[in-house]
Amino acid sequence: MPEGPSIRILKEEAQQFAGQKIIEVSGNSAIDIERLQGKTILSFKTWGKHFLICFDDFTVKIHLLMFGTYRINEQKETKPRLSMIFSNGELNFYTCSVKILEGDINLYYDFSEDVMNEKWDPKKAKQSLDKNPDEMICDAILDQNIFSGVGNIIKNEVLYRCKIHPESLVGKIPQKDLKKIINECSVYSFEFLDWKKNNELKKHWLAYAKKVCLRCDLPIHKKKTGKRSRRSFFCTNCQKLHK
Ligand SMILES: [Zn+2]
Repeated sequence: MPEGPSIRILKEEAQQFAGQKIIEVSGNSAIDIERLQGKTILSFKTWGKHFLICFDDFTVKIHLLMFGTYRINEQKETKPRLSMIFSNGELNFYTCSVKILEGDINLYYDFSEDVMNEKWDPKKAKQSLDKNPDEMICDAILDQNIFSGVGNIIKNEVLYRCKIHPESLVGKIPQKDLKKIINECSVYSFEFLDWKKNNELKKHWLAYAKKVCLRCDLPIHKKKTGKRSRRSFFCTNCQKLHK
């Protein structure tokens, strides 16, 4: 599943169509796509893993889910969910979720929850964490209403960096470590963005899909953790379990 930084790359690549009029629209999405015909795109926004195509009185929300893809100025052989043709090119989405949000987009999203947004508010994230002391940190980090944009790779890497075991309970983690985790969720996302652009993301992984801890030269454990049952990679020697 694409994480927040990948959706930021999509936004940058789609920027050429901001201010452009849709001269042809098609696709097998269940939304009333005819509504987009002849409309001008005002801007593109992202909120975590959501890609938002903003028009004057509504927004098209694209979620790539597990297998969604997109193509810019080219097409795949499969039928697109949503295809938009402009005078300067085309933007095509496949196997994704497409929805229309009516009215002001700010009524739907709190952009201070997005770890890559300029409005990102770490203090608010801390307050949200403090409300769920009994939750495992591996679940809390993936809560899109606290750390919007953070996915499973970022989760694993941040916890390895901060030396915290994924099954630690939020309320038992020392305050300074919790603040470090919150901070790293944003910092790591921007590093992820740069690495991904340079096609070198995987070589920077220290925990995700790894077999040996570089700090301890001991095996990295792999386990589905928390109520979300998502894969965690961790070293039980240097990542402390707080519970
Ligand atoms: Zn270790």
